Amino acid sequence: MIQRTFSIIKPDATGRNLEGKILARIQDAGLNVVAMKKIRMTQEQAEGFYHVHKERPFFQSLVEFMTSGPVVCSVLEGENAIENYRAIMGATNPADAAEGTIRKEFAENIEANSVHGSDAPETAEYEINYFFNHLEITG
Ligand code: UDP
Repeated sequence: MIQRTFSIIKPDATGRNLEGKILARIQDAGLNVVAMKKIRMTQEQAEGFYHVHKERPFFQSLVEFMTSGPVVCSVLEGENAIENYRAIMGATNPADAAEGTIRKEFAENIEANSVHGSDAPETAEYEINYFFNHLEITG
């Protein structure tokens, strides 16, 4: 099943010039980049994007982190893209992430964990539409 998912390369990774290395892993996993842009999220955008976490104790800190530097947003397409990308990302906490995953190799801690990937088809659709309009998505 060909699917789309939404990815963010987070500020800890852009700050260390890791965009190329992370995108290489994404492409090596068979995921095609069908849209991409580098932006600096506003506080409002970050709060809206993470609204499902707004009651969580880490919400404020997460919003501050996500607005602390540029991020690379992209739409990835491929076979089982959502699950495939989550698998190569690794666990939320890099201490728990499997060897060979993006978070194991690059993440700094549970918050500054280098990448975001949608966790389900409904969230993928919401997240893609949050940052891209259909004219910006190729293929
Ligand atoms: N996060 C955090 N502290 C926590 C859990 C999560 O700062 O205890 C941050 C982290 O950046 C994570 C994001 O909140 O990627 C969203 O959390 P979620 O549980 O959805 O993890 P993910 O789907 O990104 O693995």
